[in-house]
Amino acid sequence: MIEATNTLGSNYDRLMEKGKKIMVLESIVSIILWDMETKMPPKGINLRSQQLAFLKQIEHKTTTDPEIGTLLEKIKGHSDYDALNELQKRNVYLIKKKYDEMTKLPEELVVETARQRVITVDAWKKAKAAKDFFMFKPELEKLVDLKKEAAEILMKVKGTATPYDALIDIFEPHMTAEMITRIFDELKKGLVSIIKKCETTPKQPDTSILKRKVPVDIQREIANSLARFIEYDVESKEAGGRIDETEHPFTTGYYDDVRITTHYYENNFTSSLFSTLHEGGHATYDQNINPEWMYQLIGDGCSYGFHESQSRFIENFVGRSREFWTHYLPKLKKLTGDIFSDVDLDTFVHAINQVKPSKIRIEADEVTYGLHIIIRFEIERELITGKITVADLPRIWNQKYKKYLDVNIENDSEGVMQDTHWAEGYFGYFPSYALGNIYSGQILAALEKDIPDWNVQIAKGNFHNVKQWLIENVHQYGKLYSAADLIKKIAGEEINVKHYLDYLNEKYSKLYGYQR
Ligand code: ZN
Repeated sequence: MIEATNTLGSNYDRLMEKGKKIMVLESIVSIILWDMETKMPPKGINLRSQQLAFLKQIEHKTTTDPEIGTLLEKIKGHSDYDALNELQKRNVYLIKKKYDEMTKLPEELVVETARQRVITVDAWKKAKAAKDFFMFKPELEKLVDLKKEAAEILMKVKGTATPYDALIDIFEPHMTAEMITRIFDELKKGLVSIIKKCETTPKQPDTSILKRKVPVDIQREIANSLARFIEYDVESKEAGGRIDETEHPFTTGYYDDVRITTHYYENNFTSSLFSTLHEGGHATYDQNINPEWMYQLIGDGCSYGFHESQSRFIENFVGRSREFWTHYLPKLKKLTGDIFSDVDLDTFVHAINQVKPSKIRIEADEVTYGLHIIIRFEIERELITGKITVADLPRIWNQKYKKYLDVNIENDSEGVMQDTHWAEGYFGYFPSYALGNIYSGQILAALEKDIPDWNVQIAKGNFHNVKQWLIENVHQYGKLYSAADLIKKIAGEEINVKHYLDYLNEKYSKLYGYQR
């Protein structure tokens, strides 16, 4: 191999070339996973498992390329290292973190996990359809064992206190189960108090209007019009986005190709409506990271929690607000003919904000949602620690749903098998949803200082200024800062539950007519 020169700059450039390969490979994996969920015929599953395992192998080889190790040593050991700017140092840090972690994970473990993941997801789908946890159990057990093995190794590399912390770090770097427990305890107290108030006031919403049949073709038009509202281009010749249909909505992609999916239910049109806004929030984040950082490690979302703060900001703070519906209800009425012609704004806004403990996380309202996450956090922490086993999952799940939400789980498809995350090996992921809500409360407080009439603008149908603010204050920074540093930069303080609870109290005391 020809070594250019030994100067710091050329070594850094060479390292960035290596980093680019990693980012491009990751984007290939994401597109192949997208295809698996949207277009792939059922019979393709075994071939896809091989394709993914092979890609993971290449990714592992690329990330652990010994030349990266040599370059890192030369760069970090160079006498002028401190002369590198903030962006360069962050890129070096991020690539080193990846390299250190991946070099410690045996290639066989990575490849085996990728293969097992595809099989487990497939088993989960079949088991969920059959409402039979025992079809899922043996494959999930294999995946959990692989994940535990990886977590033990990563714990040492990352220097975390527990294997579970090492998994959390993948999604929310530097966050720990101990910190999450403290944050969630405060969150839980606040949520439970709001739920009680909502449940006991006489003013209750009429949600029957939301069950009115809306043909799927019209729902597609609604989704497109919402994409237009949030300036997520899925229609023009320069579009960088698209909307497809999957069982569970998700977002995937990179800068100029960021795709979202949704699911249209004829008798539940708000499901696709809010999931489009939610995934659209993820997509606009991915599309608006500083364009100069494309192919660099910093050109990526800050953390899963931050990503979720953006999706839930648009879904809930905007999409479930009275102001948004002041603008959009007339539009909805036009798109749906006479289906909602008799519905007034107050009735509609209260209906879409009903607080009611339920069984399914993705259908949960803003207030009870956090409890769904807390349950999952508590369970997966015990599972990775080994205090409980895969076989215990249905029983413990059902107990916690009874205790926290007072609902009876009738079968495992509406219980422990409702989500795809564990089937995909994403342990440590769930907490980021609730952390995202908490960040979004702080982000809202900061936005209100800069644009005091932001909701008046929304009521007029103008989302542009809010979006520009989000780009300027959140999106553009990508992974330049850690989540802890970014929230401090935006909000002037560490993660703080107070603002999110304030927002909920303010909103729901008005909707339900209770005293704060
Ligand atoms: Zn999300």
